[in-house]
Amino acid sequence: MPSGKIHDVVTYVLAVPTAVGFFFLTRNAGLAALGTGMMVFGGLMFGPDLDTHSQQYTRWGLFRWIWFPYKRFFPHRSSWTHGLLWSTLLRVLYFTTVVTLFLALMMYIQNVFVFGMPANGEQALMVMRESSRRMSRLFAAADRKLLLVTFIGLWWGAATHTISDVLGSALKSMFRTF
Ligand SMILES: [Zn+2]
Repeated sequence: MPSGKIHDVVTYVLAVPTAVGFFFLTRNAGLAALGTGMMVFGGLMFGPDLDTHSQQYTRWGLFRWIWFPYKRFFPHRSSWTHGLLWSTLLRVLYFTTVVTLFLALMMYIQNVFVFGMPANGEQALMVMRESSRRMSRLFAAADRKLLLVTFIGLWWGAATHTISDVLGSALKSMFRTF
C-alpha cells in the first residue's frame, strides 16, 4: 500500500486533469474550482485512510475527535472505508451525523446552563430534533448543482486513493513473485 506521501503526490498530480475534466463537464470556472478543491480535500483529509492513524486523520488537528469513532469502528482498508461505490457516501453521512450531534450538544449546554432549562431526556430530545431540522434546512437551501459537484469531487478524491492502494498492492505482490 502506498505511503501517505505518495497518496498526497497522486492527489496533487491528478488535481490538474481533474480541474480540466470538471471545466469540460460544467463549462464553469467556479464549479470546476469547487470540484477540484473538493477532490484535493477528499484526497488529503476526507479520504479512506481516516480509518487508521494516517495523515488524513492527523490533518484534522483539533477536530480529529470527529473521526475517532470512525477509526475505531471500521477495520482499516475494509470496503466500508475503501469501497469505491459507497465509502464516500458513508463518510458524508457519518460526518453530517457527528456535526448534528455536536450542534445538539451545544444547544443542550446553552439551554441548561445559560437559559436555566431543565436537564432531562425531554430537553435532549428537543435539541436533537432542532439540530436535525437545522441541518436538513441547510441541505435543502443549498444549490443542487453545488451539492452534486461537491460530492463528485469528494468521491473522486477518495476513489484515486483506493485505486492507488489497489495498484500499489498489485505491484508489490508482482515484485514479490519475481
Ligand atoms: Zn488506504
